Amino acid sequence: MGLIVQKFGGTSVGTIERIQRVADRIISYKKEGHDMVVVVSAMGKSTDVLVDMAKEISANPSEREMDMLLTTGEQVSIALLSMALQQKGYDAVSLTGWQAGIMTESVHGKARIKKLNSERIFRELRSGRVVIVAGFQGISEEGEITTLGRGGSDTTAVALAAGLKADKCEIFTDVSGVFTADPRVVPTAQKLPAISYDEMLELANLGAGVLHPRSVEVAKKHQVKLVVRSSFTAEEGTYVEEVSGMETGRVVSGVAHDDDVVKITVVGMPARVGTLSGLFNTLASNQVNVDIIIQSSYEAAVTNISFTIALGDLPRALKTLESNREQLGFEKIDHEMGLAKVSIVGAGMINNPGVAAEMFRQLAEQDIPIKMVSTSDIKVSCVVPQEFTELAVRTLHTAFGLDTLEEIAIVHGL
Ligand code: ASP
Ligand code: MG
Repeated sequence: MGLIVQKFGGTSVGTIERIQRVADRIISYKKEGHDMVVVVSAMGKSTDVLVDMAKEISANPSEREMDMLLTTGEQVSIALLSMALQQKGYDAVSLTGWQAGIMTESVHGKARIKKLNSERIFRELRSGRVVIVAGFQGISEEGEITTLGRGGSDTTAVALAAGLKADKCEIFTDVSGVFTADPRVVPTAQKLPAISYDEMLELANLGAGVLHPRSVEVAKKHQVKLVVRSSFTAEEGTYVEEVSGMETGRVVSGVAHDDDVVKITVVGMPARVGTLSGLFNTLASNQVNVDIIIQSSYEAAVTNISFTIALGDLPRALKTLESNREQLGFEKIDHEMGLAKVSIVGAGMINNPGVAAEMFRQLAEQDIPIKMVSTSDIKVSCVVPQEFTELAVRTLHTAFGLDTLEEIAIVHGL
């Protein structure tokens, strides 16, 4: 017996029949005597439908009204799920973000949760109700409805689990857990029984869509016992916890890829103190998100700076650079499209030198050119031409023992 927070994503509540199934699953937990707080997303693709409607009216709709619009999606699913439970004879109550006491920053579209006023939820739990909370929304100090960013229902669930000191947070989704690679690219991808918060955070930031990155941050900070599992089967999922690669014996836990990378090179910038800060502050204040950065030959009078961005940011990046050309003092800008970023992630890297070297060797053996590299304690990323993405991902998946999830403490080939 305990307090369990569950979250069901859009696909899991995509139809009335699926909502009924979610209700049955919640009931099976209730029968075991647990207190249940359940977060749901909007049904199916309904958030996208709302976004499209807004776009038909304006290319640049007010952020406040967007939040007002998008939060209605979750309001539909919480009410329907609550009704389904009531119909099956279980007391339930649906709560919007503000009714549930989810206080956020005063930002629209990407607000962070600041605190949880948990009295209402505890009151409902004490009266024996299942509490159904709208994901992805909260309220600011000014009383405005806010959203946490696309995919933010995961963060609602983990924040509730942290704030309510729940025994467990279960994220139910349309895949059965966290995989060693995207199974559509790597047929031999394996479901991981467990992964560390840090590894999961890297994977989530690298675009493994299974969890919203901020939910993993919150889980780590508050040591929330988190599990990702299928809403369609009874299979065990993947535990996200504070394990290290040393304990699991794995050096690499996953291979991630991101296909929409553009490399921009700013040629002939004055090589002096402040050049980098000028360039990247200008980009940042125009909301251009920069990933890998390389600066060449600081010794000469001029320097070239290359960096990568997402394809979607390209027009804004070019426009920003052009309109600040004089102030930044560069000669010209080049950009290269058709690139991808392939990354290996694993907490076990910290204790195993030569992981990056092995990655380069594996890619070289397949004649895959590496355009840029970046590393962290537990990650190595290589930018490669897009046509090699799949080959690179599969090669690395095999090389680091992920096809069979064998426990390799020593990197192959060293
Ligand atoms: N419904 C929101 C979205 O589609 C939030 C979520 O699903 O997590 O982004
Ligand atoms: Mg999601």
